[in-house]
Order: sequence, then structure tokens, then C-alpha cells
Amino acid sequence: MSVRVRFAPSPTGFVHIGSLRTALYNYLFAKHHGGTNILRIEDTDRTRFVEGAEEEIISTCRWAGIEFDESTEKGGKCGPYRQSERTEIYRQHATILLENGNAYYAFDTSEELDKMRERQQAAGIAPKYDRSIMRNQYTLGDEETKRMLDEGAEFCIRLKVPLSSEIAFNDMIRGHVSFSSRDVDDQILMKSDGFPTYHLANVVDDRLMEITHVIRGEEWLPSTPKHILLYSAFGWDAPQFAHLPLLLNEDRSKMSKRKGDVFVYQFREKGFFPETLVNFVALLGWNPTADREMFTMQEMIDSFTLEKVNKAGAVFDYKKLEWMQSEYMKKTDPDKFVYMVRNSLNEKGISEVSDDYIKKVIILLRERVQFPTQIASFGDYMFELPKGYDEEFKNKVWTEKAASAIPMVIEILRNADEFTQPALHAKVQEFLTENKLGFKDIMNPLRLLITGKSVGAGMFETMEVLGKDATLQRIDTIFQSITGAK
Ligand code: GLU
Repeated sequence: MSVRVRFAPSPTGFVHIGSLRTALYNYLFAKHHGGTNILRIEDTDRTRFVEGAEEEIISTCRWAGIEFDESTEKGGKCGPYRQSERTEIYRQHATILLENGNAYYAFDTSEELDKMRERQQAAGIAPKYDRSIMRNQYTLGDEETKRMLDEGAEFCIRLKVPLSSEIAFNDMIRGHVSFSSRDVDDQILMKSDGFPTYHLANVVDDRLMEITHVIRGEEWLPSTPKHILLYSAFGWDAPQFAHLPLLLNEDRSKMSKRKGDVFVYQFREKGFFPETLVNFVALLGWNPTADREMFTMQEMIDSFTLEKVNKAGAVFDYKKLEWMQSEYMKKTDPDKFVYMVRNSLNEKGISEVSDDYIKKVIILLRERVQFPTQIASFGDYMFELPKGYDEEFKNKVWTEKAASAIPMVIEILRNADEFTQPALHAKVQEFLTENKLGFKDIMNPLRLLITGKSVGAGMFETMEVLGKDATLQRIDTIFQSITGAK
């Protein structure tokens, strides 16, 4: 049987890091097994529906490189199934359960339900729908129920949960899991607004879409006994379940938006590459090997198994994410993010720079910044004349030795006909040896003159990328303002 999985988000807001992980694991699992990965939008709860959320889910997955295989829309690779367009299917299935005695009509008002809960709380019992005393098909009888339905009374349909039995299943990550039906509520399947609840729609769709493995977050574990009961109420086999570990902050509290970034767009806006975030998120609970952290999507597909997913909560280590971003900064093809640097340059009003030049600056500076968006500010001197220089740095490095040697070094640069890193290095080295000086005597002053800053890439590489004219222009400008020389 070929593997079929689904990512089934509800469009209730921005995509959370945990949802990205769920989407990713489903994708990796499907691809690993040559199976099918479906996107299903679970939008039956109209009160929590957020306009634009579906589009954000799709664009986030696309950005992350997570692909879907099936579409209800012709030609659209990412076009999802939408539960709100399938209401009739759920109604028909609720009817099947009414007819086979596994579901029943209930007519209670919200006041009546509140009273029931208050009574239960006062008696110290956990609130749970009490089928034996409330207004439903059991207490009213079939005839009265029919009469009320004919009269158009408001109703919902509830699952008839067995009074006392064990509901057990084997979770691919957590092993044997069992619940007592005593702790399971007579779940509403169809609400009075005519829409199904998550539970009914989810189970019906997983069955009709022939889902073989349900891979989802641990927060859905308490729903699973209801789902198991639903499968058996329909006479269906349940799919395999795999509940992914919770995501935790470093203090081991549950990752929540009150404690920092949790939405994918926040990391995206900061400038993290999709490759970084996907690689990092993949390792939140999955450890293919102890000695390796960097994986391409294809490598993850090749080695992904649910057996290697832990059940213990996974700690979100921000430092590790930053480290990973720096690693990706060093190894990602600069062509991929030239446009990001260009965007920041445009914001500064700098437009006359070629892609080729931007690329050279990226290669020069990428070990020193974390995000492409920092290149234009960290390396501003590569794109425009520095507006000033770091006073403190000047006071430290502009020694007497430097002040007397630098004019000669400038002359060497001015006379150089080959303006490359090795040629410049050789020429300066020769001068230093002749004058019994060391690189340390002149490199920082030179940095000050060219960049105005205390940190940056190697000076000879920097000069080569800048080119002779731009280098000398910078040197002359800062030299003048330091020495007052004309
Ligand atoms: N709609 C649920 C969610 O928002 C899906 C849970 C599941 O995968 O069954 O995550």
C-alpha cells in the first residue's frame, strides 16, 4: 500500500514553527516512501477563520520547499482540499452514524449545558456531557425527537461514546497509548450551524482521502481516542498515528508567542534562509545521526524515519539556529540572494551597482554577517564613500609609526598596476621588510582609511573587490579628514 499523508492546518492565523515542522515531516515521510503528500485546509470552524490565512499557509510551504501532490484545482500544484467545500459529505456521514446507532440528536441550549457543568463542578466531577439526563434522543425518545426535528428545533449530533471501555492504539512515536472511554466526552459531530466539528470532518476525510499515516503535533493526542471511536463507529480501520513532540523554550516551558518569535514569517522577515529554517526545524525532535547537523532537503528525505523521532519535548535553541544561518550564509550560492542585498541598497538609494559586483561583496563579507540584509550596512563602504570614521578605532591605531609609514603605503597602492590581492600583498610585504615593519603596524590604519571601521574582511581582498579607483578615493578622503592634509 503506498504511503499517503496530509498536512491539515486550520486557517486561523499565521503559520507557527510547530506547523512548519508538521508540514515538513509529512513531506519528508511521503517523499522518503515515494508516497503522496496532501494539503487539506480544515476550515469548518467559521468563528476562528482568518482571511488570508490559507494563502499564507501555501506561500510559507512554497518558500520552505514543501510540495504537495494533489489538487482539487486543475493545474495548481499547491491547490488544497477545503473542508468548507465538503459539508455535504460530512452530513451524509453523520447520518450513517445516526442510523447505525453510534450518534444521536441533542437539543440542549447553551444555558442548559452551562448548568450541567456547574452542577458537575460543584459535585467535584470533571465536566462531561451527561447523556442520561440532558435533552437528547435518549431521554426524549425517537418520536419526540422526530417531532422536534420536524418543527425545526435547533439540534446538534453527538457521538455515542461507550460507557466504559479501553481505547488503545499504537503510536509510531509514543508506542502503546490507551485511554478509558469514561474520560471521553460524547463529542459533538455536527454543530447547530450545520457544520461538522474538526473530529468528524478530520476522520471522514482521512478515510476518504485514503490517508495511511496521521503525523501531527502532540496537542492532538487527546483527540485521538475520539477519532479511534469514530473509525470503529463507521466500521473502518484507523490509519497509523504519529504524534510529534512538543516544542519548548529553553526554560522548557511550552513555546508560545509571549516568549519570542514563533511564527515562520518572523524568521523569514529577519532574513533566515528557508534552507536554514527547514534544516533547523527538522532537527526539533528528529535525530538521524548524533554527529551531523547540516542537511539538504534531499538528504533529509533520504534519511527520514519516524522511528528516529523522539517523544520528549524538543527545545528550540535560538543560538543553534543563528549558528546554522551563518553556516548557510557561507555555503549558499550568492546568486540566490543578490536580490536581497540589492533591495537593501535600493532602500539606501544606491542603484548603480552590478549584480556581479554585489556577488563579489557577498563572497567577501559573508563570513562576517549572519543575514544578506546586513551586507549593505556592514559593508556600506563597498557601495559608497564612508561618511566618517570610527574615532575610537582611529585613536587606537593611528600611531606615530602608522602616520609615517602610511603615506608610503598609499604611494605603493597608487603606483600598483596590478590591483589584486596577491600582487598588493607582495608589494606591501616588500616595503615592510625593507623598513623593518610588520603587517600589524599598517593593516589597521589601512582598514581605517578604506572602510572607516574597525572590522571587516581581509584588506587586500577588500581592495581587490573595490578596485584601484574606489580604494584610493576612500583612502584620500579619510586620510584628509584625519590629517587635515589637502
Ligand atoms: N486542523 C488541525 C490543525 O489545525 C489538524 C490536526 C490533525 O492533523 O489532525 O492542526
